[in-house]
Amino acid sequence: MRRFGVRIPTSAQSTEKSLAACGGKAFKILKTTQMLNFVLFGPPGAGKGTQSEKLIDRYQLKHISTGDIFRAHISNQTPLGQQVSALIADGQLVPDAITIAMLEEEVEKNPGAKGFIFDGFPRTVAQAAALDEFLESKGSSITAVIALDVDQEELTKRIAERQKLTNRVDDQADKLQKRIEEYFSKTIHVLPYYEAQHKLSKVNGIGKIDDIFAELCEVVDQY
Ligand code: ADP
Repeated sequence: MRRFGVRIPTSAQSTEKSLAACGGKAFKILKTTQMLNFVLFGPPGAGKGTQSEKLIDRYQLKHISTGDIFRAHISNQTPLGQQVSALIADGQLVPDAITIAMLEEEVEKNPGAKGFIFDGFPRTVAQAAALDEFLESKGSSITAVIALDVDQEELTKRIAERQKLTNRVDDQADKLQKRIEEYFSKTIHVLPYYEAQHKLSKVNGIGKIDDIFAELCEVVDQY
């Protein structure tokens, strides 16, 4: 978005600006308009939803929460909703193939987006790899992954509070335990995947919402 320079277009949104002669040769000077795609990462109750809302407001990015989309399918009783409702109620992850197809469809619905905040996706290494491949096919990529760091004691406390306000069936103690297990057995492996790509930033997820948000913005503003 803010990157200028002489470069080969890597994005479908690149626009040729002008031609400049240099040493008798013509070079294309290109202005590239990169999408900003962030993954907001963290265990259940880390505050991904709250912070995503604030980030989309400030940066005008499109928020895609796979959990929210699944819940909408369930309440609308769509075939997909019927397919996944038992798994979700039980705190298990939905199979990759279903989740990836749904995510891609959601991205396709927003062709003009400046970028996306992915919240709750990817949750497995297979999803992360599929997302990379999908974005690459659009001449785009993940800009950065921001992991909200919150310890388990705080998570349990927050979800107990949330349970009083909402009636998410998967916030019940045993289902929550399952979700935390899914996080530590499957989702946590997504972190080294992005660390190897030098895209991972960690932000302390405990404290005042606005302080956490300010730290997130510091990361986003680097891009
Ligand atoms: P959380 O509060 O645990 O972050 P979410 O709202 O993101 O919850 O997700 C709720 C449930 O939806 C998950 O426990 C899981 O069953 C399903 N789900 C959401 N995103 C994914 C995903 N990327 N892969 C598989 N299952 C998912």
